Amino acid sequence: MKTVQSENLFQKAQHLIPGGVNSPVRAFRSVGGTPRFIERGKGAYIWDADGNRYIDYVLSWGPLILGHAHEAVVEAIAETAAKGTSYGAPTRLENDLAELVIQAVPSIDMIRFVNSGTEACMSALRLARAYTERDKIIKFAGCYHGHADMLLVQAGSGVATLGLPDSPGVPNSTAAHTLTTVYNDLDQVRELFEQNPDSIAAVIVEPIAANMGFVLPQPSFLQGIHDLCKQYGAVFILDEVMTGFRVAPGGAQAEWNLDPDITCLGKVIGGGLPVGAYAGKRHIMQHVAPAGMMYQAGTLSGNPLAMAAGIATLRTLFDGGLFDDAKKLTAALINGLVEAAQSLGVPLQADSVGTMFGFYFLKTADAVIHDYASAKQHAHTERYAKFFHAMLERGVYLAPSQFEAGFLSSAHTMDDVQTTISAAQDSLTHLLSS
Ligand SMILES: *Cc1c(COP(=O)(O)O)cnc(C)c1O
Repeated sequence: MKTVQSENLFQKAQHLIPGGVNSPVRAFRSVGGTPRFIERGKGAYIWDADGNRYIDYVLSWGPLILGHAHEAVVEAIAETAAKGTSYGAPTRLENDLAELVIQAVPSIDMIRFVNSGTEACMSALRLARAYTERDKIIKFAGCYHGHADMLLVQAGSGVATLGLPDSPGVPNSTAAHTLTTVYNDLDQVRELFEQNPDSIAAVIVEPIAANMGFVLPQPSFLQGIHDLCKQYGAVFILDEVMTGFRVAPGGAQAEWNLDPDITCLGKVIGGGLPVGAYAGKRHIMQHVAPAGMMYQAGTLSGNPLAMAAGIATLRTLFDGGLFDDAKKLTAALINGLVEAAQSLGVPLQADSVGTMFGFYFLKTADAVIHDYASAKQHAHTERYAKFFHAMLERGVYLAPSQFEAGFLSSAHTMDDVQTTISAAQDSLTHLLSS
């Protein structure tokens, strides 16, 4: 496979942009090698600067649930752009996307659009703090909610600790209000509430921990968090930036019957353009300015192009069974991967929900990954790196890290899935013999 164009572009980029990328995982640091510079995408496929074609399971990290350059989305963007790209004044499009989301997700009465998932989570927490007049928040190690200072915090080990920042540049004083605990461990959450009965504003959680690989919530974990929030007067924030319209058309909350106070959204609702949103119960959302006193604003928030892309994406998705077909293909892909691994004696933990999936190569056959510590302990990252490159060579583009989820779109076909499973079989056979 020729990669000379990508190599040249990457070399140049490293002089111009820190690490050559505008978001760290793109740089392939955890799998090694040169990131592919992408020229174009159509449906399930992307083409790099050297003309290589890949079946894409990253899909811009989730947003492209209809695949690349879907006609309806491209048309909506072009039609809207011809009329102007931004006004800094309200538009009908914002009402339309708001209505689509509110109708799809029962817990949501009102929504505020922002420009990224980071902004959505940051604003949701400010709102929870304004609403409760409390400072502390609880998050879970390995859960990602964007790069706001107070959220770049995780526990160093399996024990609940006071927050210490993960990144230089985050003041200890900012992180100090962030309590971090263990995903899937409700007792630890209860303990934190018992220790801080009057000062916790909110718990924020990913319904599937899909930024540390793919860890499913244990059956009563999420509802248990909500019950504790109710008991102690805290706000239950479900971060569905990734899972929204991916796990089910109504999000993970529809799939598992949850009724969060605030939901964070992003990715799919922007159809590939920069959009985030925080949304929820009317009595809480009414605290957002100018209805209420909690200040939050944005020059490009509710941008017409982004709204148009989101509307076209959701309307197309809700039409005619696209979601269910993509969901079936996702399950078929994971079944195929599991069978391939089993037949070759490769320990694998793999799951899918809706149109999302994830898999870990395990260092030992009896290991089970259920939180961040066990993910770091048991995931065979070297095998993943080799597998990733073997798949790339065979025209399959997976996430360039073991600790990320994968995605399908309505443009993927059973042929694509079969090709991918064969490539996986071939790749694993090759790895084991080399
Ligand atoms: C991607 C993601 C974010 C951050 O969204 P950005 O648009 O990258 O800022 C927040 N929360 C979750 C669960 C995500 O997957």
